[in-house]
Amino acid sequence: MATQLYINGTFVDPIDGDAFPSVDPSTEAIFAQIGAAKSGDVDKAVHAARDAFDSGCWSNLTAKQRAEALRRVAAGIRARASELAALETKDNGKPLPESQWDIDDAAFCFEYYANLAEQKEAAGAIEVDLGDDQFDCRIWHEPVGVVAAITPWNFPMLMAVWKVAPALAAGCTIVLKPSELCSLTCVEMAKIIHEAGIPAGVFNLLTGFGPDAGAPLTEHPLVDKVAFTGSVATGKKVMQGASLGIRTVSLELGGKSPFIIFDDVDIEKAVEWALFGIFWNKGEVCSATSRILVERGIYSKFLDRLKEAAEAITIGPGECEGVKLGPIVSESQYKKILGFLERVSSSDARLVTGGARPEGFSNGFYLAPTIYADVSIDAEIWREEIFGPVVCVVPFDQEEEAIGLANDSPYGLAAAVMSDDLERCDRVAAKLRAGIIWINCSQPTFTQAPWGGYKSSGIGRELGEAGFNAYLETKQVTRFDHTEHWGWYLGSDNA
Ligand code: NAD
Repeated sequence: MATQLYINGTFVDPIDGDAFPSVDPSTEAIFAQIGAAKSGDVDKAVHAARDAFDSGCWSNLTAKQRAEALRRVAAGIRARASELAALETKDNGKPLPESQWDIDDAAFCFEYYANLAEQKEAAGAIEVDLGDDQFDCRIWHEPVGVVAAITPWNFPMLMAVWKVAPALAAGCTIVLKPSELCSLTCVEMAKIIHEAGIPAGVFNLLTGFGPDAGAPLTEHPLVDKVAFTGSVATGKKVMQGASLGIRTVSLELGGKSPFIIFDDVDIEKAVEWALFGIFWNKGEVCSATSRILVERGIYSKFLDRLKEAAEAITIGPGECEGVKLGPIVSESQYKKILGFLERVSSSDARLVTGGARPEGFSNGFYLAPTIYADVSIDAEIWREEIFGPVVCVVPFDQEEEAIGLANDSPYGLAAAVMSDDLERCDRVAAKLRAGIIWINCSQPTFTQAPWGGYKSSGIGRELGEAGFNAYLETKQVTRFDHTEHWGWYLGSDNA
């Protein structure tokens, strides 16, 4: 039986009863059927969200009341954490400890925004000094309204929660459309939200394909805000769709993030973070540091150790003990990555290791950790987001040269710099054009800190306070606070 949609507080089949398969990437076997929403289902879900918002059943609650409900959702996630992590691994292929990490983060994200909503409400309205004592001015923040959230498959539940938790905390209602490649943990989240007693219509879930369900959602006239995470190509379509109604858009898009490593570092530490920066989550990470720039003095030594350590990574199904690299999420993504590798010419780069299916795997979408060295900065693999366990390494001689190479990209999501000289790290961090800078590490992500990109990597920020403000409208309330007449038309100088 296929999973159902969640609309207006009820689990329902899609109007046309259509479904599509979910594939276990470690075996290539179909293991679930997912309900496929179409435009009619989208319309129902958006109307439910609109009615729920307009009724005030959620937006008019106090922040404390909403926070209590969100804490029940967090508790529901924690109570089912091991089941959810196992499901995430089966659907996406990522190693189980990584899924456990994601699910824990998802629960924490609900708790964090529950607390933040209460703190913001307690702080009250913000007074504005107008420099004119005839007037009193305050700023109110109000929920933006009905949110359409469209999310990717690389952190299937967590990417959804980064939108659902702050949107609900802010008082919005939401329609979530997760990726068709990994829908299952979001279906479970809908059950948890239902059990937490969140009013009907406040949260709605539409599983389905981008053109069938995502596009009509972004274009729907009753939506107030579109929050999207995914590729640049789809982000452009989402922005166009949302422009039809001049709706607020936030976009979390792709990246090709650089990692600058200076020659004063401990090679073991540098290799450890370089590996984590690209092979964690199979390199299916928007902020993956897929371009490594190494100061020439340690270039050969670094590459030798990186090769040795990459070749020692345990590959296998995500649920197996000790596995640190699971299969690529789907056949289409696997073929896309292999296509990039097939197009690498001898003048583009030197293959250090990997580049193909690892030995001993006859099925499953497995790719050996792949390292290219001496990469031409014009090569496709240096410039384009591959979104897999493939890293490019180049040498540099001067700090300014490294910064120039790092910034020479249409993307600007993240960047990392490693040196024992912390002044140098700060100097370089200031010159890197990216929304997230890691110093002496790569990838650690915290719910409390803002997340998002410069340039083509997106618009707006998720997480932290910025990720809450993204679901608020700002209203100024200005009051004439004076006993005298205004006196423009009816004052003493007039008849
Ligand atoms: P994608 O763009 O293919 O799909 C993302 C979502 O958009 C899916 O739910 C999909 O069904 C939907 N979609 C597809 N076509 C649509 C359309 N015409 N209208 C509306 N929705 C549509 O991306 P993906 O392959 O799922 O995810 C990988 C991409 O996401 C990478 O580029 C990665 O860098 C990016 N990403 C970014 C962040 C970030 O925080 N910046 C985080 C995770 C992933």
